Amino acid sequence: SALFDSVLRPVITRAAGSQRIKQTSQRLPVTERVVDRFVAGESESDALAAIADALGSGLSVTIDHLGEDTTDETQASATVAAYLSLLQGMSQFEAPPGALEVSLKLTALGQCLPRHGRKIAEENTHTICGAAAAAGVLVTVDAEDHGTVDERLDIVRTLRGEYPELGTVLQAYLRRTEDDCQEFAASGARIRLCKGAYSEPASVAYPERSLIDEAYLRCLRILMKGTGYPMVASHDPTMIEAAELMAIEFGREPHSWEHQMLYGIRADEQQRLATAGHAVRVYIPYGQEWYGYFVRRLAEKPANLGFFLRALVSG
Ligand code: FAD
Repeated sequence: SALFDSVLRPVITRAAGSQRIKQTSQRLPVTERVVDRFVAGESESDALAAIADALGSGLSVTIDHLGEDTTDETQASATVAAYLSLLQGMSQFEAPPGALEVSLKLTALGQCLPRHGRKIAEENTHTICGAAAAAGVLVTVDAEDHGTVDERLDIVRTLRGEYPELGTVLQAYLRRTEDDCQEFAASGARIRLCKGAYSEPASVAYPERSLIDEAYLRCLRILMKGTGYPMVASHDPTMIEAAELMAIEFGREPHSWEHQMLYGIRADEQQRLATAGHAVRVYIPYGQEWYGYFVRRLAEKPANLGFFLRALVSG
C-alpha cells in the first residue's frame, strides 16, 4: 500500500487528465462493465432508476452528471442543459424534504475557460440553483484540484447570498481546510467533508494517510461543534464512528447532519446506518464522461486496480 500510495496513485490520478487514455478506455467495453460498479449508467433514465432504488431503501441522494475540465463553452452549456433536464426528472419523485440533491463541478460548467471562466461558471451555477430551488432539490458544489479552491469558495459565498442552502465540499487533505472549516462552520453552511481524491503536492496537502486522517478528525470536530449542517463523506469506519460520537458530544439532533458515501462503495454500511435511523446520502454519478471519476476510484484502493486489471485480461 505504501508503494501504491507513493508511486501508482499519483500516476493513475494524473492519467485522469490524459485525453488519449480517456478515449482509449471509453472504447473498451470491458472497462464499462467495471465502471458499472461505480457509475449508475450513461443516461438520465439510468440516474432516475438509481434514485428510485436509493429512495426505496431509505437513502437520500445526490446526483452528479459526470464531466470536468471543460475548455469549450458549448460543452459547459450542454452540462447546464443536462442538469436542467435531470432536475425536471427529479421533481417527479415524492421524497422527504432535503432527500434530493445534485452535485456539480465548476470545471464542467466553465471555470477553466480561457476567457471569463469564473463568470461563466458562476452564471451557469446560478441557473442550476434557480431550477433546483424550483424543483425542491438541493445543490452542492464538488471540490476539485487545489488550484480551483479559492475561486470556487468565492463563487459559493456569492451565490449563498441568494441561495443560503447551497453547499460545498472541503477536502481534509489540504493544509488550508481547517481555516475554511472555521469560516463555514460559523456561517451555518452545508459542508461536505471528504478526505480528498486528487494528486496534490505536499506544499498544499498532507502527504500521508495518517496525517490526512488526523486532519479529517480536526475538521470534523470544527464542523460538528459549529452551527452548520455537516455532511460526513467517508467510508472509513474510524471517521463514521467519530462522527457519531461527536454528534452526541455536541448535542446534535439526528437530522442536523448526515453521512454520505459513494454509489457502489460499502452499500451494506449505507443500509446499516440508514436502518439504524441515521441520515445517509448516496452520491450517484451518471453520464458518458466517467473516466476521471472512475480513475479516482481506482486510485483510492489498490484492490480496485487489481479487479480492473483482472477484468481487462480475462475480458
Ligand atoms: P479511505 O480511507 O480512502 O477508505 C476507507 C474504506 O472505505 C476503505 O478501506 C474501503 O473499505 C472503502 N473505500 C474507500 N474508497 C473505496 C473505493 N474507491 N473502492 C472501494 N472501497 C473503497 N473527493 C474530492 O476530492 N472532491 C469531492 O468533491 C468529493 N466528493 C465526495 C463525495 C462523497 C459523498 C464521498 C463519499 C466522497 C467524495 N470524495 C470527493 C472522495 C473522497 O475525497 C475520498 O477520496 C474517498 O471518499 C475515499 O476516502 P474515505 O474517506 O472513504 O476513506
